[in-house]
Order: sequence, then C-alpha cells, then structure tokens
Amino acid sequence: MADKRDYYEVLGVQKGASDDEVKKAHRKLAKQYHPDLNRDNPEAAEKFKELNEAYEVLSDKEKRQKYDQFGFAGVDPSYGGGAGGAYGGGFGDFGDLGDIFSSFFGGGFGGGRSTTRRNAPQRGESIRQSVILSFEEAAFGCEKEITIDRIENCEECGGTGAAKGTSPETCSNCRGTGTVTQTQRTPLGMFQTQAACPHCHGTGKIVKTPCSKCSGAGRVRKSRTLKVNVPAGIDEGQSIQLRGQGNAGVNGGPSGDLLVTVSIRPHPVFTRDGSNVICEIPISFAQAALGDSLQVPTIDGRIEYKIPEGTQTGTVFRMKGKGIQNVNGRGRGDQFVRVNIEVPKNLSEKQKRLLREFEENTTDDNQSQRKGFWDKVKDAFKEM
Ligand SMILES: [Zn+2]
Ligand SMILES: [Zn+2]
Repeated sequence: MADKRDYYEVLGVQKGASDDEVKKAHRKLAKQYHPDLNRDNPEAAEKFKELNEAYEVLSDKEKRQKYDQFGFAGVDPSYGGGAGGAYGGGFGDFGDLGDIFSSFFGGGFGGGRSTTRRNAPQRGESIRQSVILSFEEAAFGCEKEITIDRIENCEECGGTGAAKGTSPETCSNCRGTGTVTQTQRTPLGMFQTQAACPHCHGTGKIVKTPCSKCSGAGRVRKSRTLKVNVPAGIDEGQSIQLRGQGNAGVNGGPSGDLLVTVSIRPHPVFTRDGSNVICEIPISFAQAALGDSLQVPTIDGRIEYKIPEGTQTGTVFRMKGKGIQNVNGRGRGDQFVRVNIEVPKNLSEKQKRLLREFEENTTDDNQSQRKGFWDKVKDAFKEM
C-alpha cells in the first residue's frame, strides 16, 4: 500500500458515476472483501478498509465534490487539507447489506475517522525537519546531510515484537481481529458495540516471548543521517518531500514522509525575489555622468556591464537570465542591478577647486531637472 489509490478506481466506477452506481459498486465489493468472509486473507481486510474509505467520500455529495476538486487533500486531514472533522455520519445506507454488517457498523463508525478494525494497518506519521542553506546552495542546488530521529521497525524482530526464533500468535480471544463485539439487550432491541480486545490490546496478536531489543514493542526510535538532494532554485520556506522516510507505520502500514523545510542565510551583496537576484551598486558622480563599465557580481561570477552616460541615481538595470534557476526546472530569473550615486565626502582643497570650476561651467542644459524645478517655483509664485 505505497500510494493511495484513486477512490473511483477503488470502487471501479467512472468519475461521473451516479450515486446509485457508486452504491451498487460498493455493495458488490463490500460483500467480496468483508473481513468476516476472508478470515485468512489479510489483503482483503486492507481492500475492505480502502473500499469503505472511498465509499465514505464518494457517497457524500459535499465530500465527493471536495475530492473531485482537491483530491485526497480535500477530504483527508492528514494530507494537510482543511477537512478536519469531516468524517463521521453518512452511514445510514448500510442497513440493506445484510446481517453481517449490522455488527460491523454498530459502533465502529460514526465519530471521527475510526478504522473498521483496531489492528488495521496505519500509515506512520510524517516528520518535519529544517535545513539551513547558503544563498548559493539554494541557487544551484546541493546535497545535504540531515540527521533525524524517527520510529523504525525493530531490526531484531522485524517489527513483530517477538523474540528471535518465535513469532506472535493470533489472539484466540478475538481471532486476530483485535476487536471484540459486545451484545446488549435493551428495550429498543439488540445493540452491538465494538471494543479493543482486552487480551491483545487491539493488535490481534499475542507475543509470548518479547524481543529483547524492543521489549516487544516491535518499534524502536533511531537516529538516522540521510542525504537530501536539494533542487536548484529552492526558496525560503519551501519543503522537500522524502516519501516513506518518516516514522514507520503500524500493523504493516506504510511509513510517513520526511518534509525538509529550507531556510536560506542572507548573502552579503545579493538579495532574492523568487528566481530574480537583486544587487545594489554604489557608483560615483563621475561614473554616472560619464558612463562606465562595471564589473557586476552575479551568481556566476563577475560580468562586465556598461552603464551609459548620464545614468541617474536609483536606475535599475536588468541582466536577463542572470538570476536563479526556476525551481520547477524551466529557465532562469534575471538579475536586477540598482546603481546609487554616492556623493563624495572629505574633499581635498584641490577637489573642491575643481568642482567649483565645474559648477561654474554647468549650464541649464546639463541639469534639466534643476532648471525645470525652479521654473515651476517661479510660475507658482508669480515671480518675474
Ligand atoms: Zn524487536
Ligand atoms: Zn485479541
């Protein structure tokens, strides 16, 4: 059970199937896979569980709509979608399935997402871990080692909890189902409720000689160092999913995932906006006025870039395709270079003399903004 099967596929119906078709398909398959009729076939129990989950969603108008729109994320809280508490209810249609079902649906369903069998396989929990990358590591991708603590099946006993050379026995009290049914007679009729088997605590198995390494738990906490391939272009807050590297499942269920969330250390000269790189470069008044060839730092190294004569402070130049690889694989962003004119300070007498001389030779044509501004002032105040 590596991946969840599509609910329509599970029921063997088309996506646009009518409520009646869904109901009929479920009824047919439920009879085929019912655990009470397949005691020696653990696969049937799994199929039955899958079937009921699919039916629970597809038979409910609202849930089906969410599933059609968002997939599993729309109906399963463990997928991160917002459907918390959406399970439960909706089982009124089972009355016609015959007696074998009455005990089954008597107590197990209803509130929450309870499984039909206490010892049904359950998916392991996912683990979250964070990793800190340099600006370049995120831009170009890298391989990172991360260490996590996770629950694994005990190697010594293979997760059964039974000592080497022995194996767990099927609980005789519940015949391996992990559940016991209690019948109560009330004035309203017979009521059947289900509870975890007290002998095997719902596991369906009895371990006579526990494994020495895990004390019979079958599971151990382990520290593991894993290699993570970080794709080029990953951005702050994005996660890398490593399927099946989370905690081990229970009763043969699949492992959860490992989600590695990225945070990126600031760079001394670059900032980042998605796949674009931004760099601010201070230039002198003379460079701006005369134009110059700048050695612009990029993530690929320095690149010569010519700024034209008369470049104004704050002008942003775009270097196409010099940004970061798009994390989804296609193309690169751009680099934006903003030049800021730095007004010179601590001038020598000679520099001051030269600047005064320069200023005396400056005309309105050189400083059109300055002229324009004072013209507006004159107009505004009706000055001559
Ligand atoms: Zn063990
Ligand atoms: Zn039992």
